[in-house]
Amino acid sequence: MMENKLKLESKLAQIGSIKEPVTGAINFPIYQSTAFRHPELGKSTGFDYIRTTNPTRKVLEEAAAELESGDAGFACSSGMAAIMTIFAKFGQGDHLIISLDLYGGTYRLVERILAKNGITASYVDTNDLEALEKVRQENTKAIFIETPTNPLMMITDIKEVCTWARKHEILTIVDNTLLTPFFQRPLELGADIVMHSATKYLGGHNDVLAGLIVTKGKEISEEIAFLHNSIGAVLSPSDSYQLMRGMKTLALRMERHEYNATKVAEFLLSHELITDVYYPALPGHPSYEIQNRQSSGNTGILSFKVKDARYVEPILRHIKLIAFAESLGGVESLMTYPVVQTHADIPAEIRNAVGLDDRLLRFSVGIEHIDDIIEDLNAAFHEAALELEGSVVRG
Ligand SMILES: *Cc1c(COP(=O)(O)O)cnc(C)c1O
Repeated sequence: MMENKLKLESKLAQIGSIKEPVTGAINFPIYQSTAFRHPELGKSTGFDYIRTTNPTRKVLEEAAAELESGDAGFACSSGMAAIMTIFAKFGQGDHLIISLDLYGGTYRLVERILAKNGITASYVDTNDLEALEKVRQENTKAIFIETPTNPLMMITDIKEVCTWARKHEILTIVDNTLLTPFFQRPLELGADIVMHSATKYLGGHNDVLAGLIVTKGKEISEEIAFLHNSIGAVLSPSDSYQLMRGMKTLALRMERHEYNATKVAEFLLSHELITDVYYPALPGHPSYEIQNRQSSGNTGILSFKVKDARYVEPILRHIKLIAFAESLGGVESLMTYPVVQTHADIPAEIRNAVGLDDRLLRFSVGIEHIDDIIEDLNAAFHEAALELEGSVVRG
């Protein structure tokens, strides 16, 4: 465990730094061994078999627990594996409450797989306590929130929801992928479990698939440890190393992502082709105040609507620096069309209820120079307008 009084930036940079006494190695090695020799019958070094625990993954898991102010960390083979490991806690007859605007893969997991096991779910705006009370049932076991939501950047007041949930003995689970522990720590606000698609900001370089779970409390930590080992969707030693390598620069990257995204949001607001910009750092955003209270910074993800859906195709064709690709949170700028990509599995009626329509584009703003990013957007908008209207559009 790292020194607790260190600032987050220092803890991040020092993940796995062991100052190893024999060789002096700075970084923790990758232990590929699947099996560990027992000193004698009934004794163990603490490592027995790779799935249960292994030295490289353990360093990552302890760092995750510390960064999120939790008791135990669990590294999984993907964000979805992390969510499935948590949801494996629930069974026949259990009911879940879930954020209305949600990562499409989570929705698919609940509706296509959990439903088969007799688990039901209600989707609501998790910032509306009255709505929560309305869908709550005697058998409601957990509330799963994404905040900010992906792609519409809706914010949930985590503390308020946790207080409500605790009163009804409902577990609070938070998907903290978009803000990372550098900007938001849900366990400090009362949540029981936090999870990440570490494929996104934590890894940060669009080169490793991983998930993390961090739990608070002895009972829930033991239960997730059992499920993590039993299901076996765990992270390999080499991917654990790769993820730690990425996490060391999280602080620097998040600061740049936030700076760039804020500038992009301001540019989009002033552009005549754009009708709506969804970014909680903008003072006009309905959740500006809650966001500022519970988080120390903003994500690099934002969404915007073009004035007509016909603009989407030429804009995606004309962006050059920004790639038209389906992920988020990496150093490279990526643009996504949620209605046909990440959120295609969500039924049109739910999509329309939250405003996720065919004019919406999601932008994961990278850490390139802001001038180059804005120039790329500006040029793509200009080309799209020329094609569709034969006129010149100015930002
Ligand atoms: C990507 C993502 C997931 C799923 O994670 P994978 O690592 O792709 O399995 C879950 N939640 C959010 C918010 C995501 O962006």
